[in-house]
Amino acid sequence: PPVDTFDYIVFGGTGDLTMRKLLPALYYRFRDGQVPTDARIIATARSPLSREEYQARAQQALHDHIPASALEADTVSRFINLLYYVSLNGAEAQSNWADLRALLDREPATRIRVYYLATSPALYGQICENLSKQGLVTEQSRVVLEKPIGTDLDSANAINDSVGRHFPENHIFRIDHYLGKETVQNLIALRFANPVFERLWTSDAIDYVQITAAETVGVEGRGAYYDNKSGCLRDMIQNHLLQVLCLVAMDPPVSLDADSVRNEKLKVLHALKPINPSEVAIYTSRGQYMRGHVNGQTVGSYLEDLGEGVTSETETFVALKAEILSWRWGNVPFYLRSGKRMAEKCSEVVIQFKSAPWTIFANKPAANRLIIRIQPDEGVMLSVSTKDPTPTDSLTLREADINIEFEKAFNIRYPDSYERLLLDVVRGDPILFIRRDEVEAAWKWIDPILQGWSKNEAPLEPYPAGTWGPEGARNLLAQSGHLWHEDMK
Ligand code: NAP
Repeated sequence: PPVDTFDYIVFGGTGDLTMRKLLPALYYRFRDGQVPTDARIIATARSPLSREEYQARAQQALHDHIPASALEADTVSRFINLLYYVSLNGAEAQSNWADLRALLDREPATRIRVYYLATSPALYGQICENLSKQGLVTEQSRVVLEKPIGTDLDSANAINDSVGRHFPENHIFRIDHYLGKETVQNLIALRFANPVFERLWTSDAIDYVQITAAETVGVEGRGAYYDNKSGCLRDMIQNHLLQVLCLVAMDPPVSLDADSVRNEKLKVLHALKPINPSEVAIYTSRGQYMRGHVNGQTVGSYLEDLGEGVTSETETFVALKAEILSWRWGNVPFYLRSGKRMAEKCSEVVIQFKSAPWTIFANKPAANRLIIRIQPDEGVMLSVSTKDPTPTDSLTLREADINIEFEKAFNIRYPDSYERLLLDVVRGDPILFIRRDEVEAAWKWIDPILQGWSKNEAPLEPYPAGTWGPEGARNLLAQSGHLWHEDMK
């Protein structure tokens, strides 16, 4: 069914995120009848464009980012009709707010308003202040914040304070698009709807856990931003991978109410054993890609991608060992890793169970492994030992997989993460958004690692593009006799 009607006001309406993700996501939801036909999408940016010029750009973006089979001419034209454009500098009080106000005032003030901030986070505070001064923050207004929320605890607090002065916390939706991914949400279903897993979900049965988000791309056009402000730890681990860790490790929430789930996630973040700056060499490995081969093509190094004559100590790869100080997870390491220019594009969670204490077979059974594939090919796979059918004189074992591929199992297109998230904001359901205290707890844990690295306590290791990262990442697991997934095959 459609959600209640709304105005989506996008600051940064001409940017990459809007064109590549937000408009296609809203188009799909419109096509499927979930966006009311009188909803409006009001894009704003500084560029002086007419409504028609903006609509033409948006139409092009749909053609660039959606397969032709999903673009039906009449539906596209009705969707494009929902789009408006206001040329406005969101960071300036003297800008063209009158046009935005006039447009918004055409509808009753009780209509749901979503202010989506798809600009640099440096502008979030000023945009919210201007919205507030202009009297545009109504009772039904929400604000959506894109990542990154800060580059450390202090800068995150500054952003959250500046937005929090104008919007109450329950109207602030901090996006972590990983939480919009179907398989990430499926972690909740898999764990809390299937006692067969949840009863084994403790240190009694689980040996260790791996969470990987590997990309084959390099920094592409974002080099300067990535190098100055980000790096892999801030870009991937602080938000996406820690969120996945929370969903894997949390206790059962009492309900699917947003705060019940977020309280349980917060408990996990609070239970993470701090990694002190002097310990980063023991718990972390950081790397930067060199020239190499990805999918059969020669690609340049990170420094070459940044431009001639540039030097940089920014990491494009991180592996780390996290420990959760709780009854459930005592002695179960959670290995997190993410990197650019890796051997494969792959995001997954691997639950490695303990091996059988004894064997009566000719060969030792391999320990069971549950793999939750987040992308590509979303699915769940459980490795089991079975009888080897090859005729021999003894009963030997062979590993086989119980494998569900969701797209095939349900014969349905898997929606992009933004599709679910954008309408959840309209519904006012923050279950898949990050609460302020989660952001703070995550940065509190990450900051000392950044401090240790800035003192060069864990030297940056080069790795060839198209591999699984530096040797240090393998050693991190080898110390405990553990292996990364690709080394088990
Ligand atoms: P982008 O392509 O550089 O777009 C920035 C947008 O902001 C443009 O529309 C720009 O248009 C507008 N803008 C800049 N200054 C403005 C101002 N003072 N007032 C109003 N509009 C202004 O950036 P992006 O890649 O879309 O990223 C936007 C945000 O999303 C960033 O916070 C980024 O970290 C986050 N994000 C992006 C992605 C992604 O895939 N791109 C993924 C996750 C998070 P004008 O120059 O015409 O004003």
